[in-house]
Amino acid sequence: MSEPLDSLIKAGKIAAQVRERMKEKVKPGVKVIDLCDTADKMIEDLGGKPAFPCNICIDRVAAHYASPLNDPTMIKQGHLVKVDVGVHVDGYLADTAITVCLDPSLKKMAEAAEAALEAAIKTMKAGTKTSEAGAMIEHIIKNRGFKSIRNLTGHKLSRYIVHAGKSIPNVHIMIGEKLLEGEVFAVEPFSVLPTAAGEVRDGAPSNIYRFDRNRNISSTAAKEMVNFIQSEYKTLPFAGRWVLRRFPGIDGVNAFDELLKSKSITSYPQLIEKTNGVVAQAEHTVIITNEGCTVTTR
Ligand code: MN
Ligand code: MN
Repeated sequence: MSEPLDSLIKAGKIAAQVRERMKEKVKPGVKVIDLCDTADKMIEDLGGKPAFPCNICIDRVAAHYASPLNDPTMIKQGHLVKVDVGVHVDGYLADTAITVCLDPSLKKMAEAAEAALEAAIKTMKAGTKTSEAGAMIEHIIKNRGFKSIRNLTGHKLSRYIVHAGKSIPNVHIMIGEKLLEGEVFAVEPFSVLPTAAGEVRDGAPSNIYRFDRNRNISSTAAKEMVNFIQSEYKTLPFAGRWVLRRFPGIDGVNAFDELLKSKSITSYPQLIEKTNGVVAQAEHTVIITNEGCTVTTR
């Protein structure tokens, strides 16, 4: 096996293991920050690194929630909880998610996202189009009485790049792009109730950040911090709390603030369902082959 393929497979295995173990940990009374920290640590213990902070998104939050320091948020009975895990091995990525239903009445909705994911994966091989996967996802979710979120998509993964251009739509689109052998994709259907909008809007800033570029940083502390961020996370998203633990106290907070104000780093907004509808998600990472695709995150 070539080295990138080795690393892709390893990242996928770690991500799958973490996802499955996390599923058991999402229970009423558990703090979200403990879930986030547990997942991030599990990844390192298994020999990988987080490709992004573990996202724990509740109910109407579809994506991009990771705990800030001292986050009091708790999992409660009735919550619909998405656990989204990203792993990299030497920059080669795996991205996978699952929905834990603490409201039994929403189980069928979560299953619709799972079924759509499996059906979409079956359409994917070198030469087929992204639009075929999208049409399949919408069809399966609709068929089960739910709605697919139209403005969230799966995405191509490249080395150290989580969103590498090509998208896998979650609805039928007119013009798709061809899938090529060796390309890596995260496929991620989202399902909502038929009464919901089936769209997300930008919400409050999340605790997930990305490095943009060095701009007008004056203090030594901020310079040191930005060097750390660049060398440690490169082009990958990172959690504010990771950095603030590394640079503790008020000096760290001030340096982080300087990086934000200078726009050297920016926050990803939380993605919230437009009508505040509850959202379920399922996600796997696949490598396109001539015969079909290899799911790395089973
Ligand atoms: Mn994901
Ligand atoms: Mn993804």
